[in-house]
Formats: sequence, structure tokens, C-alpha cells
Amino acid sequence: MKKVLVTGGAGFVGSFLCDRLIDEGHEVIAIDNFFTGSKTNLRQLESNPNFELIRHDIVEPLLLEVDWIFNLACPASPVHYQYNPIKTAKTNVMGALNMLGLAKRLNARILQASTSEVYGDPQVHPQPESYFGNVNPVGLRSCYDEGKRLAETLMMDYHRQSQVDVKIIRIFNTYGPRMHPDDGRVISNFIVAALKGEAITIHGDGLQSRSFCYVTELVDAMYRMMQTEDFTGPVNTGNPGEFTMIELAEKVLKMTNSSSKLIKTAARPDDPGRRRPDITLAKERLNWEPVITLEEGLRPTIEYFDELLKRA
Ligand code: NAD
Ligand code: UDP
Ligand code: UDP
Repeated sequence: MKKVLVTGGAGFVGSFLCDRLIDEGHEVIAIDNFFTGSKTNLRQLESNPNFELIRHDIVEPLLLEVDWIFNLACPASPVHYQYNPIKTAKTNVMGALNMLGLAKRLNARILQASTSEVYGDPQVHPQPESYFGNVNPVGLRSCYDEGKRLAETLMMDYHRQSQVDVKIIRIFNTYGPRMHPDDGRVISNFIVAALKGEAITIHGDGLQSRSFCYVTELVDAMYRMMQTEDFTGPVNTGNPGEFTMIELAEKVLKMTNSSSKLIKTAARPDDPGRRRPDITLAKERLNWEPVITLEEGLRPTIEYFDELLKRA
């Protein structure tokens, strides 16, 4: 049994990770500044004696004692991370620095939640970890993309210079229940619009693609990665199934029996055109491969939003 810190624990992915860690018998401390996360995501753990939730911003130093650190704190949706881009950069860089300082002092193992955004608008398809990416350093997405890239750099420099035991995973688009209904990400946007009978908005021509992984499968990859020895990554964690936004919209319409119309608006600046993980390394080193299809994962996600909307 380990003592585990999860930063961003009240968020979408973080809350599922806390659930899994508690199920595995660990003691969990979640910290969160509640910018995009909420206590509701962790209601099920509230009275668990092995669980503790602390309000804290990782831009500030943190003193506590743990064996493992999962560093997830950072808004993940473009709408949220662009709301205050300077804060996003600080969270990514100063946050990672503080968590690395903590890991160094404690001799703790630290896992960084990086992102497929480090590949930018990729010119290599699908993306292997060896691809250095095609990132605009001065665009609207840079606070996130470059912030995550520097967090990876810090991880590797603390590893080389101070022998910190680091792990880096590059997460591709992940979805499931507990996504924020207003966070602007495509799956939540499409489902909420379809359920409300409102128009589904496609940015650009809708031919851009993404690969979507169901949240519990991502969490499984994170847990496996944390238990590896002599492996820092970076390793891609995502589901290689690739869909255009039009295909996704059609699937959501069919599964929700919705007659919402599709409308097209301007493309988002620097919106990556294609994205699909090469997961050869994850298969080899983590013995991990997602099996939940998009349709199978959309079902519980649609149910979640349906209940949420009915309650509201
Ligand atoms: P989320 O927005 O639901 O969760 C992020 C959590 O971090 C929230 O609870 C938020 O309140 C908290 N947070 C933000 N800034 C903080 C700060 N300065 N101090 C403390 N807490 C802070 O997003 P998510 O989808 O759960 O993403 C979790 C992590 O996974 C993020 O680091 C994100 O970059 C990464 N990731 C997610 C995806 C995805 O598709 N969901 C893809 C790639 C990478
Ligand atoms: N830090 C922290 N908790 C700790 C140890 C360090 O938050 O238990 C922070 C510390 O405040 C510093 C950062 O981590 O801002 C990097 O720490 P490190 O020891 O690597 O560098 P230094 O303190 O020498 O700048
Ligand atoms: N998108 C869309 N309509 C929406 C929200 C997003 O067409 O209501 C598109 C967006 O332009 C992008 C893709 O869906 O091409 C995925 O967007 P998301 O914000 O979910 O994730 P990211 O761009 O970070 O992969």
C-alpha cells in the first residue's frame, strides 16, 4: 500500500484515478484548486478513511509526505486553458517544478500527465513518441502545448540531474462520465447539444480527426505506468481508433435519437488536423491496449449527461 498524491484530483481524469487507487487499497491525498474540478466528482470517496481532499494550488509550494505523485493539475479543455493562459503556463511549469521539488525531497516517484498536444499539428501520422512535433510557440494553444512540453523537459532534467524517479505519459483525447458539461470539449459539447435538441457546432470542415479513449482505460495505463521499473517514457496512452468530427457527430446523433442539426463555424486557430497514437510502446512496456470501442464508451457517457441534464 502506498501513500499517493493526485494533483488535479477533483477533475475528470483525476477523480477516476482516485477511485482506482482507493480500490487498489492505497491511501490517497487529492489536491485541487477547483478551477475546473469539483467536489461532486469525489463525493463517492468523501467518507472513505483512506481518502483526503485538500484545496491547494500547485503553483504554490506544497509540503506533505507521499510515495507516489500523479501530476494532473491543469485545465485540459481549450476553452478553459485559454481563459487565463498565463495561469495555464504557470500551472504547467511552476506546478511541475514544485511537484518535482517535492518528489526530490521525498525520494518519491512522480508521473506527469502530458498530452498528445506536444505533437502540435502533426506532420507524422500516426504519432510515435520519437516524433518531436509541430507546435506553434506563439499561438493561442501555446500556453498549454509549450507548458506541457516544458513540464516534460523539467521531468527529464530532474531525472538526469537529481535522479528523480519520473514517468511521462502522453494522453490522447479521453472521454467519459464526469466531463464538465460546459468545458467545450467535443464529446461533451456534441452529447449535450444532441440531448437538448440544439444544433451541433462543427469547427471547420469537420474532417479533422481525433482518437478517443475511454477514461477507465486511460486510468489503467496510468496505474500500470506508475508500477514500471527503469522506464521513464514518454509513452503514448490513447485509443488508436480514429474518427472525423463529422463521424463523431453522426454517431452521437444516432445513439441519442436526436434530430439536432449540424452547423459549421470557423475552424479554431492552430486546430490539429489529424491525431492518432502509435501505441506500440505502451503495448510493449505496459502490456496495455484499449478495447472499449467509441460506441461502447459513448453509452455510459450519454447516460451520465442525460441524468445531469434531467437533474438540472
Ligand atoms: P480537468 O480540467 O477535468 O481536470 C484538471 C484538474 O486540475 C481540475 O480539477 C482543476 O480544478 C485542477 N487544476 C487546474 N489548475 C490547477 C492548479 N494550478 N492547482 C491545482 N489544481 C488545478 O481535466 P482532465 O481532462 O481531467 O485532465 C487531467 C490531466 O490530463 C491534465 O493535466 C490534462 O492536461 C491531461 N490530459 C487530459 C486529456 C483529456 O482528453 N482529458 C488529454 C491529454 C492530457
Ligand atoms: N518544493 C515543494 N515541496 C517540497 C520541496 C520543494 O513545493 O517538499 C518546491 C520548492 O518550493 C521549489 C521547487 O519545489 O520551488 C523546486 O525545488 P528544488 O528543491 O528542486 O529547487 P530549489 O528549492 O533549490 O529551487
Ligand atoms: N470541435 C468541434 N465542435 C465543438 C468542439 C470541438 O468541432 O463543439 C472540434 C475541435 O475544433 C477539434 C476537435 O473537435 O478539432 C476536438 O476538440 P477538443 O476541444 O475536444 O479537443 P482538442 O482540440 O484539444 O483535441
